[in-house]
Amino acid sequence: MEKIITHSRKEMQILGREAGAICSGQEVFVLSGDLGAGKTTFLQGLAQGLGVTGQVNSPTFNILKLYKTKKGSVVKSFCHIDAYRLSSAQDLKALGIEEILADKEMVVAIEWAEKVKAIWPRNKIKIKFKHLQEDERILEITDDRKNIKIKKD
Ligand code: ADP
Ligand code: MG
Repeated sequence: MEKIITHSRKEMQILGREAGAICSGQEVFVLSGDLGAGKTTFLQGLAQGLGVTGQVNSPTFNILKLYKTKKGSVVKSFCHIDAYRLSSAQDLKALGIEEILADKEMVVAIEWAEKVKAIWPRNKIKIKFKHLQEDERILEITDDRKNIKIKKD
């Protein structure tokens, strides 16, 4: 497990952007942590790094939102899921999650992912976000893919 501390919203977005820039498709980020711990902030950077040009907001009322990346990007689409209101993975199946996970040119990120463990793939990247102090957040990252780090050394 790798631990990274960020000291500002900006630093968190940059970390997300770096993680997005090295994705090659079919990565699944499963995120947990309390409200305000920085999950959405990280994902906004991640989306930018993938090549999404529009603003990514919390999809709380939609549960699942799909974005296209700009022309020439390695990854073609980004799927942002907020499982906060879900009690099981069944609802995600109805929204087509199985096809989304099978798409090799898609990256998926799930907030409140512990609510939908049934759909976690084997090669997930798990990130736990914790609020330390005002602007300090710690990320505990467990990357189940072999020898890949979300941040380049
Ligand atoms: P979550 O999606 O986990 O509920 P958000 O990313 O929506 O969290 O909110 C995080 C809040 O904390 C934002 O208001 C952001 O400006 C603030 N913040 C302060 N420091 C940080 C940091 N280091 N990383 C992420 N967010 C931070
Ligand atoms: Mg959020």
